[in-house]
Amino acid sequence: MACSSLYRSAPMGPANQPDYVNAVMAVETALAPLALLDALQALETAFGRVRHGERWGPRTLDLDILLYGSEILATDRLTVPHPGLAEREFVLYPLQEIAPDLNIPGLGPLADLVRRCPRRGLSVIEEA
Ligand code: AMP
Repeated sequence: MACSSLYRSAPMGPANQPDYVNAVMAVETALAPLALLDALQALETAFGRVRHGERWGPRTLDLDILLYGSEILATDRLTVPHPGLAEREFVLYPLQEIAPDLNIPGLGPLADLVRRCPRRGLSVIEEA
């Protein structure tokens, strides 16, 4: 339903990997949360992602569920809102671009989270 610009961000974790390209999109789906996660992980695999042990290592494609409507979920496989959402500039700024008035369940107004999160090296590489 909406897609942000493409943003370049410095890698989290190991620094010996290339910069990342980030974007946020809003989708309408008939899939339940875990079925949506399955579909996203199938897409990651189709795009050549191989899961190794290393956390935050380089990857071809990483698709996360940031929000699922106004739901709060905490299961083994899925935590929503995404646990890193509040600290990650490469999530908050693109999200604000497509949903500036959003309230994040359990966390409050997105605009407040953005104000508290430095932009670090985040830059727009391709306008939406
Ligand atoms: P990642 O390395 O980012 O692909 O995530 C690893 C695992 O995080 C996945 O296998 C999911 O089961 C789990 N996970 C928990 N919450 C979420 C979420 N909101 N979006 C995507 N993955 C999640």
